Amino acid sequence: MSDDTIFSKIIRREIPADFLYEDDDCLVIKDAYPQAPTHVLVIPKKPIPRLADATSDDRALLGHLMLKVGDIARELGIDEAFRVCINNGANAGQTVFHLHIHILAGKTFKENSLSMQ
Ligand code: AMP
Repeated sequence: MSDDTIFSKIIRREIPADFLYEDDDCLVIKDAYPQAPTHVLVIPKKPIPRLADATSDDRALLGHLMLKVGDIARELGIDEAFRVCINNGANAGQTVFHLHIHILAGKTFKENSLSMQ
């Protein structure tokens, strides 16, 4: 798997990021170009390019990431209202091909704002 995305460089500390959390399997950073007052990214250290590339070997890792979403939401005090997003593929808006989970909060999301253009 490719290991040369901006997130792999952040994981290797080759470029800076605003870290909120790190463990052996994942990190949580602030998004550099926030789309909401709170916008953070949960990123596995394993360089899985897209969610669709995950396999049953990644079952525990994916569970860990989702539980970390809840932990971070509670820590940030946004657990009553936040949106989680994973873009899979360029036509879905993915720009960094290293799996990551967006957590967005602090604004009102429209019910129909998941529609695609
Ligand atoms: P996606 O478009 O789903 O692939 O999301 C990639 C996200 O990474 C975008 O929300 C970008 O704003 C964010 N991003 C790009 N470069 C950086 C960086 N150096 N540090 C933190 N977030 C970044």
